[in-house]
Amino acid sequence: MRVFFIGFGQAGGKIVDMFLAQDRKLQQGSFRGIAVNTARTDLMGLKHIDMKDRLLIGQTVVKGHGVGTDNVTGAKIAADEIDTIINAIDTRGTHDIDAFVVVAGLGGGTGSGGTPVLCRHLKRIYREPVYALGMIPAPEEGRLYSYNAARSLATLVNEADNTFIFDNSAWKNEGESVKSAYERLNEELVRRFGVLFRAGEVGKLGVGEMVVDSSEIINTLRGGGISTIGYAISDVITKSKQKKSFFSGFAKKDKAESALTGEDKSAKIIGLVRRAMLGRLTLPCDYTTAERALVLVAGPPDEMDRKGVEKSKSWVEENIAGVEVRGGDYPLESNFIAAVVVLATIGNAPRITELLEVAKETKQDVIRSKDRQSTMFEDAIDPLFE
Ligand code: GDP
Repeated sequence: MRVFFIGFGQAGGKIVDMFLAQDRKLQQGSFRGIAVNTARTDLMGLKHIDMKDRLLIGQTVVKGHGVGTDNVTGAKIAADEIDTIINAIDTRGTHDIDAFVVVAGLGGGTGSGGTPVLCRHLKRIYREPVYALGMIPAPEEGRLYSYNAARSLATLVNEADNTFIFDNSAWKNEGESVKSAYERLNEELVRRFGVLFRAGEVGKLGVGEMVVDSSEIINTLRGGGISTIGYAISDVITKSKQKKSFFSGFAKKDKAESALTGEDKSAKIIGLVRRAMLGRLTLPCDYTTAERALVLVAGPPDEMDRKGVEKSKSWVEENIAGVEVRGGDYPLESNFIAAVVVLATIGNAPRITELLEVAKETKQDVIRSKDRQSTMFEDAIDPLFE
């Protein structure tokens, strides 16, 4: 799929930067992207997005210093400067793309406020679907971040064609701070979504046995709401690699997995897809509530297996609420086989419920504190002037 990424805010910019780096490394040319921010230093820190594709907005309001965690100002600046943003997107070229993906951390200010605004206008102007990829904050980041994320998400689900969620708290390790985990979290995120967003592109090895084209991804996401993805990989062992990895911890297992044929290949793919769906999802949730799913298997052509993909699809279908399960494979020059399962239009995700609860409480506290402020000086003493 040919994707136009817009990284909104600091987190969004960093992640789009990584998607472009990955695309260049694989020499695929499937991705293009720009970064939009109210903070100049965040834009300067990017490495792979061309200078001319880094757009600073809100200069007259915040003078390049960012909006802090004020997502209302973030939304206002995006709305005021929407023509400038759309112009930057058009300049980069949109005629051959299959979808837009707007990436942002939903707990902050610029990306949290700007993403729903941008999605609304992209949908108004272009025919291609508009997806959001939002990172939700860990509770330890504080209630304001949760409040911002809940407000942004509640708006976003009505503006984007579908919203993928990556939950920072589910991915950081015990005892690790969210900040120190960003680099690792971003790699995990880009690896997973990279496999999905590159599906359907013809690489050096041609097309797969069961091609997944971009229309199948689009149809899977058609139901809107929020979606999550699962991912699993398995080593592929060539004879030369077997020797090399003999002393590695995986050597025994690798040997057992080598030279698979027929039934074994199918079994390996089914096992991989099961691990992808039952393992850690980008947004942990009750997978049985998904309306639609997409199963993708990518790896060396010799390891691909039509029967394995078919059986995996049936297994996924038996386990989700809906009946629409699409899927296929694509060949990749790699030492791994990767499986990605998209669980689209999720009905129940405890982390989102929790986020909305925290937001409701925070809103009440904000109202109470405003009331306190306004009554504190009432009747106390006369002001100098009215
Ligand atoms: P903005 O620049 O105002 O849009 O705000 P940020 O992007 O800095 O941060 C908003 C949210 O994104 C916070 O909840 C952060 O925890 C999260 N965040 C910031 N940087 C990263 C990052 O590199 N990776 C991930 N996964 N989350 C991040």
